[in-house]
Amino acid sequence: MNSNKISFPLQVNTDLCTACGICAETCAFQAIQMNDGPEINPQACRLCGSCVQNCPSEALSIQENTETQTEEQQTAAEIWVLAEHSQGQIAAVTYELLGIARRLADQSGMRVAAMLLGHQLEPMTADLIAYGADTVHLVDRVGLETFIEENYARVACDLIRECKPAALLVGATVRGRGLSARLAALLHTGLTADCTELRMDTESGLLQQVRPAFGGNLMATIVTPHHRPQMASVRPGVMQAQEPDRMRSGEVIRHEDYTFCPDERISVIHEEDEGCQTASLSQSRVIIGIGRGVKNKETVAEIEAWAERIGAAVAGSRAAVEANLIDASRQVGQTGHTIAPDLYVAIGISGQIQHTAAITGAKRIIAINPDSNAPIFRIADYGWVAPVEEALPKMMQILNELGV
Ligand SMILES: Cc1cc2nc3c(=O)[nH]c(=O)nc-3n(C[C@H](O)[C@H](O)[C@H](O)COP(=O)(O)OP(=O)(O)OC[C@H]3O[C@@H](n4cnc5c(N)ncnc54)[C@H](O)[C@@H]3O)c2cc1C
Ligand code: SF4
Ligand code: SF4
Repeated sequence: MNSNKISFPLQVNTDLCTACGICAETCAFQAIQMNDGPEINPQACRLCGSCVQNCPSEALSIQENTETQTEEQQTAAEIWVLAEHSQGQIAAVTYELLGIARRLADQSGMRVAAMLLGHQLEPMTADLIAYGADTVHLVDRVGLETFIEENYARVACDLIRECKPAALLVGATVRGRGLSARLAALLHTGLTADCTELRMDTESGLLQQVRPAFGGNLMATIVTPHHRPQMASVRPGVMQAQEPDRMRSGEVIRHEDYTFCPDERISVIHEEDEGCQTASLSQSRVIIGIGRGVKNKETVAEIEAWAERIGAAVAGSRAAVEANLIDASRQVGQTGHTIAPDLYVAIGISGQIQHTAAITGAKRIIAINPDSNAPIFRIADYGWVAPVEEALPKMMQILNELGV
C-alpha cells in the first residue's frame, strides 16, 4: 500500500508560493515540512484548512475532487467492515456487520472485505472469512498493538483511499463511533450513525441507511450519492451474524510494506478493561432494566444480587443513570446500548421511545410498574401492575421456581 499514489486534496500552487513558511508554522499537526517549498505529509494532515486561511499568497487550496469521487464510485465494488477487536477477540458487532454486509453484497453482486488493523492478528483472519468476508485487508504492525484512534484513522484512511470500497460499515461502539467520525471527516464523505436497517439499491448501488430521527418518531432513509465510501455505523445487537462457515475460503491481503507516521502526541500509558458489563449486556440472555421508579440504591443492590445469582446483567434507563442508581456505561436506549436478550425485565421504567427503541430485539419483555397506563405495557409480553417493593420478591421467587 502506498498512499503517495493518491492525489491529496490539499494542494500547493508553486507559481504563487513564496516559500515564506507561514503554513508550516501554522499547522498544529506538523503536517508541513519546509524544503524548497512546503511539503505536505498526507498522513499527518487533517485537512483542517488552517494553512489555507493563513497563506498570504493564496497558494494553498483544498479541493473537492469530484473527479476522484466519480472514479471511486466506478471502481468500488466492495462493502467493507471495520473489524473491531480487543484482547485477541473479534467483537461480536463485527460478525453482525459481516452478516448484513454479506446479505447486501449477495443481493448486489458485490464482495465483502474486512479491514483488520493491529498487531499479531493473523489468527483472526480465518474467523472473519468464516463469518462472511471474501477478503481480509490486514495491516499487522508494531505501533498498532494499542488502539489509538488517530493512528487507526490514518491507516484506515490510507487503505480506503487506495482500495476505494463502495461502503464501510463500522460498529457504533465507543471505539467505532470516534473512529468512524474521524474517518468520514478525513475522507470527506458522509456517515450515518446508529443505523437500524441497511438496504442496497441494486440499480444505483446506493446504500440506504435507515435510522430513527426526531427522537425516534420517524425513520429516516439516508443515502450518500456523491461521496465514497458510503459510511454507516450500527450498534451491537441490531444486525444478525450469520452462522460461521469454516469451509469458506477467502483471501488475506497483507499490507506488509505499509508504513505510517504515528501521532506522536499520544501514547498509552496504561490500559484497563472495564468493559465486562458492556460485554455482558451484549451477551446476556437475561437483562434486568432499572428505571427511576426503583428509587433507591438498596433496591438496586437487591436487584444486582439477584441478577448475579441467576447470571443476568443489570442495565438502566437514562433517568436511572441521572438519579445515580446505575452507572452510565449500563444505560440502554437511544443514547446508550441496544440490547437483544431472551428476556428483559423492565422494573420502574415508564417506556419512553428513547428507551424502548433499543430493546425491540428482546424476545420477551416483562414490565413491573404501578401505573397501568405506562407505555412500557404496550410492548411488554407480561405486565405486572404493582410497585417494585411488592412485585420484586414475588418475581424473584417465580423466576427461581422456573429456573431462570
Ligand atoms: C435525545 C434523548 C435521548 C435519550 N436517550 C435515552 C436513552 O438512551 N435511554 C433512556 O432510557 N432514556 C433516554 N432518554 C430519556 C427518555 O425520554 C426518558 O426520560 C427515560 O427513558 C425515562 O426513564 P424512566 O422510565 O426510568 O423514568 P420515568 O419516565 O420517570 O419513569 C419512572 C417509572 O417508574 C414508575 N414507578 C413509580 N414508582 C414506582 C415503584 N414504586 N415501583 C415501580 N415503578 C414505579 C412510574 O410509574 C414511571 O412509569 C432520552 C431523551 C432524549 C430527549
Ligand atoms: S504559507 Fe503559502 S506562500 Fe508561504 S510557504 Fe506556505 S504555501 Fe507557500
Ligand atoms: S490543512 Fe491543517 S492539518 Fe493539513 S497541513 Fe494545513 S494546517 Fe496542517
